Amino acid sequence: MKKIFIYFFAFLFICFILPALLTKWEVATSSQENENIAENQEEISEEYIYNKYGTIKLLHTDTNAVEEVALDTYLCHVVSAEMPVDFEKEALKAQAIVARTYTIYKINHKKHDNADICDDSNCCQAWISKEDRLARWDGDKEEKWKKIEDCVNETKGKIITYNNEPINAFFHSNSGGKTELPVDVWGGGSNMPYLQVVETAGEDGYTQYNSEVELSNEEIVEKLKEKYADIQIDFNNEEDIKILEYTSSGRVKTIKFGNHEISGTEARTIFGLRSTNFEIEKIDGKIKFTVTGYGHGVGMSQTGADSMAKSGSSAEDIINHFYVGIEIKDVNSI
Ligand SMILES: [Zn+2]
Repeated sequence: MKKIFIYFFAFLFICFILPALLTKWEVATSSQENENIAENQEEISEEYIYNKYGTIKLLHTDTNAVEEVALDTYLCHVVSAEMPVDFEKEALKAQAIVARTYTIYKINHKKHDNADICDDSNCCQAWISKEDRLARWDGDKEEKWKKIEDCVNETKGKIITYNNEPINAFFHSNSGGKTELPVDVWGGGSNMPYLQVVETAGEDGYTQYNSEVELSNEEIVEKLKEKYADIQIDFNNEEDIKILEYTSSGRVKTIKFGNHEISGTEARTIFGLRSTNFEIEKIDGKIKFTVTGYGHGVGMSQTGADSMAKSGSSAEDIINHFYVGIEIKDVNSI
C-alpha cells in the first residue's frame, strides 16, 4: 500500500511539480535578463544632448573648407592631436575637458569670420584626421582611437568655468615644475585670475623636461640681426650677455645681448628654445642654453597632468590643480 503512495507522489512530482518549478526558474532568469537589457537601453537613451554648441564650424586651413561637425567628434581629433595616447586616461580626460572649454571659449570669441575654430595649433587648436592619426600610431590603432573616444565621451558636456563663464583654457607640454602667469608671456591676462603659478611634481621624468641649444657667437649675432640690425656684442665682456630679470615663476623675463635688452619670450623665439626657463653658459666661442620645460608654461601642463594621473589624481583633480578658483560645470547649466 505504501509503495502505491510513493509511486503516486513520484508520478505527481515528475508530471506536475517539477515542470512548474522549472518554468518558474526560467521566468526568473529571463526577467533578470530583461532587466539588464532595460538598464542598457536606459544607458543608450541617456545620450548627452547639447542645448548649444552641439556642432561647430571647423575651418580646414589647407583647403579653406569649412566643415560642420559634432563637438565631441571634433574633440576626439583634437585630443588625439594634442596629447600622446599612451598617457593615463585621467590625463586624456582632463585634456578633453580643457579642449572642450577652449573650443567653446573660441566660439564665443571668434577669430574667423565664417568658422568657429581652425585646425592650426598656432592659430586655434591642433586637429588631425583619423586616417592620419592611425597612420602615425603603432600597435592596435583602433583600440587607441577607442581610448580617445572613451575619454571624450566620459566627459561629455563638462567644461571649466570661472564666474559661470567658460575659461580661456591654455595648456602646454611641460611646465618644468612650475606654471607661468599669462602677463609674463603675452603681457596681458589680468582678466584671467584662474591662471596662476602652480607647482607640479614628476615632470622631470619626461623627455620634454630637459633640452639644450648650442649656438656659435656668430650664429647668435646673425639671429639677433634679423630683428635688431644694429646689434653689437662684445663676447669677451662678461656683462654683455646677461640675464637681467626673472619672472615670478623663475623664467627669464629680460636678457641683455650687447646694446639690446630683450624679453625671455623673444629670446625663446629667436634662438628656437623650448621655453623661457633657461640658463646661459659661454663655452669656447659658443653660447649654451640649458632649457627646462616645453611650451609657454601657462595653464595645464600635459606631462604634469599625466604625472598627477599616475599618482592617482582624477581629471577633475588635475583641472582644479592647474586652474585656480574654477568650477567644472555641465555646459547646459550655464
Ligand atoms: Zn584659427
